Amino acid sequence: SSYESVALVVGITGIVGNSLAEILPLPDTPGGPWKVYGVARRPRPPWDANHPVEYIQCDISNPEETQSSLSRLNDVTHLFYVTWASRSTEAENCEINSKMFRNVLNCIIPNAPKLQHICLQTGKKHYFGSFEASGIAAHDPPYSEDLPRLESPNFYYNLEDILFEEVKKKDGLTWSVHRPGTIFGFSPHSMMNMICTLSVYAAICKHEGTVLRFPGTKEAWSLYSEASDADLIAEQEIWAAVDPYAKNEAFNCSNGDVFKWKHFWKVLAEQFEVECGEFEGDERLTLVELMKDKESVWDEIVKEYNLVPTKLEDIGVWWFVDYILGIEYPLDTMNKSKEHGFLGFRNSKSSFIHWIDKLKDSKIVP
Ligand code: NAD
Repeated sequence: SSYESVALVVGITGIVGNSLAEILPLPDTPGGPWKVYGVARRPRPPWDANHPVEYIQCDISNPEETQSSLSRLNDVTHLFYVTWASRSTEAENCEINSKMFRNVLNCIIPNAPKLQHICLQTGKKHYFGSFEASGIAAHDPPYSEDLPRLESPNFYYNLEDILFEEVKKKDGLTWSVHRPGTIFGFSPHSMMNMICTLSVYAAICKHEGTVLRFPGTKEAWSLYSEASDADLIAEQEIWAAVDPYAKNEAFNCSNGDVFKWKHFWKVLAEQFEVECGEFEGDERLTLVELMKDKESVWDEIVKEYNLVPTKLEDIGVWWFVDYILGIEYPLDTMNKSKEHGFLGFRNSKSSFIHWIDKLKDSKIVP
């Protein structure tokens, strides 16, 4: 074929999957021209329909379904694994996520003779601990890639171990691991989308004429935070997939600047024309509480502004924002990535506004 490289993106409708779907097919993308297969669990959503991607609906937790949908993809040269499953305990997360990753690898490694590289996306919880263990005896930030693993169970470690074991099965097959922090990106199908959730919250405040109250702690309000732009992560993953100097390494992936939520809260309020709240005191407010029973309000907003139909429970991931705005956010360092030749960065404020605009333009929020 006329393609130089063939990508299989598992999690194509996710927060980074969506960025890969936009960037990989561009004519000037490194390693290209790229042919792109994209896997997701649900039917193709309208906001993905224009990407030049062969969309495959498949539940990768089911081994038979994975075999029947993916074993024919024998031209794949690069695998981008940007998905996960969430269960109530980390032990269960380890089990289901290992199973999903193995199902895909068991299908692709034997059937795709030209497979060269596997990108695995995990995250900063590699250093900080899983949601259930987070922060307990974690490493002292800023985090660098060579820190030893923590003692507590973490599905990221299971995924890495499976990756290291599986790449040995094929000569010349290389890997990279990518560890972003809180991702700023678009997908309304993401299980954790900070900007989409904040935008939905702000739109509800606007609709109800209430102040944009800050549902977080003093630490989150006034100390430094950082974020990872979804396009930047996609660029780093593509760089690692094609650059010989990036092989068989793990990389942090953050924007390269810091910000404070007390400043971004004003930006959010401006973008949705609501009155900006302040840090209110030590009594913790949560979005889970504030946004309880708002389903019908959201349905009204969707109708009034003729938005793409969504369910509040899907796009308002309240627990996730409550978690992020409840911690002293740990910073990482991009030194290793830069030393290996990836110099990408984002201005976090521009990134914040860019993704809010994209959610508005795509008629996900008013
Ligand atoms: P996501 O939740 O945005 O997207 C998940 C994608 O996987 C979707 O396309 C979904 O359809 C697909 N998917 C889910 N279950 C599937 C199944 N059974 N079969 C087939 N497809 C399935 O994903 P993400 O947030 O990019 O997560 C990837 C990794 O990044 C995870 O390890 C996550 O912990 C990590 N991470 C995420 C964030 C964040 O802010 N979202 C931050 C840091 C790290």
